[in-house]
Amino acid sequence: MSNADNTDMKFETLSIHGGVEPCPVTGATSPPICQSTSFVFKNAEQAANLFSLKESGFIYSRLTNPTVNTLEQKIAALENGTGATCTASGLGASMLAAATLMNSGDDFVASQKLYGGTCSQFRDSFSRSFGWHCNFVDPTSPENFKQALTEKTKFIFVESLSNPEGVITDIEAVARIAEDAGIPLIVDNTIATPYLCRPFDFGAAIVTHSTTKYLSGHGNAMGGVVVDGGTFDWAKHKDKFPALSEENHGGYRGISFSRDFPDNAFAMHNHAVGLRDLGMGQQPMNAYLTILGTETLALRMKQHCENGIKVAEYLNNHDSVSWVSFAGLKESPSHELAQKYMRQGWGGALFTFGVKGGYEAGLKLVEGVNFFKHLANIGDTRSLIIHPASTTHSQLSDEEKIKAGVGPDVIRISVGIENPDDLISDLDQALRQSTAMAA
Ligand SMILES: *Cc1c(COP(=O)(O)O)cnc(C)c1O
Repeated sequence: MSNADNTDMKFETLSIHGGVEPCPVTGATSPPICQSTSFVFKNAEQAANLFSLKESGFIYSRLTNPTVNTLEQKIAALENGTGATCTASGLGASMLAAATLMNSGDDFVASQKLYGGTCSQFRDSFSRSFGWHCNFVDPTSPENFKQALTEKTKFIFVESLSNPEGVITDIEAVARIAEDAGIPLIVDNTIATPYLCRPFDFGAAIVTHSTTKYLSGHGNAMGGVVVDGGTFDWAKHKDKFPALSEENHGGYRGISFSRDFPDNAFAMHNHAVGLRDLGMGQQPMNAYLTILGTETLALRMKQHCENGIKVAEYLNNHDSVSWVSFAGLKESPSHELAQKYMRQGWGGALFTFGVKGGYEAGLKLVEGVNFFKHLANIGDTRSLIIHPASTTHSQLSDEEKIKAGVGPDVIRISVGIENPDDLISDLDQALRQSTAMAA
């Protein structure tokens, strides 16, 4: 389905029908799982055309696969992009996007308020293995991004709604700074999902996701995606981004991606060169599970968000809780931005709060809950809880923990789609246990 066909469909309809056509051979309406590494050529001429990008089709599943392609079309439709490239995980998506944009010795500017795994990737592996330097800035003032730009800056990277603190970035303001600098803004839209926020509407050039979270939604499939907004003028900035404009790049003779694929040069490059050479493609079974999850994204997100605000308000009024960091609450510094960037001003369903009694009370709380599962994922149908200081962030010094917003008293919860009354009574009994000792 081409993007032009999607423009009249509302989000819920797009979630079901976007990108999916009945199988032309069998008529199957649920996308078949094409568990095949390679695809038979019709003849020698077609084979040669596929390899030289003169024709589009399937060659080998490291580059493209029909089931994965269906998911890519669906996510591109939901984000209102022109193409998408699925990866093995969310970190595979940031890796793929950066590899297309960066040359060794280049730098980029990223928000400090990012998922911890992305921070490690940007800070440690990107610089050590590839010579890509990241300047981290406080995103609450867009001006900070401008200050950090250098001659060699190739992109700006932010999360629309940050994991885990729920900080919202002023996407439009940062997009303007990126545009003035002639570089793309990449928005990791994992926690908001396109149901709450569509970064392309506010000037972002590229969107990434960990589809492991809300898009697949059931805690059963790893995956990531890079979505091409189709608006960035690569040819105009060809000195900065030779991979996208130079002829013969990646061994494709006579091809310049920005000239020959003007609508989706970035997505084409991510498949034809990125996945081909870096090898982080998504598996068909995971794509299938994520397609199923995406069909109910609107229903689930609505329930996640309604439960999220109820649980946040309950915690905010609880004597044993010292603070709640949730954009849906009026006193949150992100509350005003939520009105602009998030559907209905919702704050999502992932946030942190502080429990009185510190480290020990935090441990007691994660052990005392029943419905809330104590584990390291988010964005599942189930409610999830973790004490970052003793787990995900235990390797940081005390000072670094505070900076990362995960001091000893911090609890992260991902509110699921159960009945909110059950969730609140579960937290209630667990908080009573955990703070009885502190009192
Ligand atoms: C989980 C997550 C990632 C990384 O995704 P994986 O699928 O675990 O590799 C990236 N960004 C955000 C916001 C995340 O929550």
